[in-house]
Amino acid sequence: MGVTDGSDTSAPFTPICPECTFRQDRHETAGHQYILLELGYELPAHDLPADQLWVVRADGKAVNLAGLDSPEGARYRIPHRLICPCGEPPPDNMPALKALWDYNSGLAACFHPPAAEAG
Ligand SMILES: [Zn+2]
Repeated sequence: MGVTDGSDTSAPFTPICPECTFRQDRHETAGHQYILLELGYELPAHDLPADQLWVVRADGKAVNLAGLDSPEGARYRIPHRLICPCGEPPPDNMPALKALWDYNSGLAACFHPPAAEAG
């Protein structure tokens, strides 16, 4: 429903988030795009959006396994944009992501201005 798979052709060439400047893991996807994955964290499927089940294969390519059966105990990488402190906070029904976003927000010097009023 209007949610992309998180890959992006315009990702930077360095593995640094252009918004919060945090170092990330940058991986090519099967579609020859690139995605920034959060360093050091993996979550079980139930803590992630159903369409964001990323793994990094042995060849270094990031693959989104959304729509496939999730094996017992499987853990997945987290697309950085879901918890970038310069982006929107995750929804309340994603408490693990929200906690990581909160943690990142404490580390980044992002300024969160109130939404600009139109007009
Ligand atoms: Zn970021």
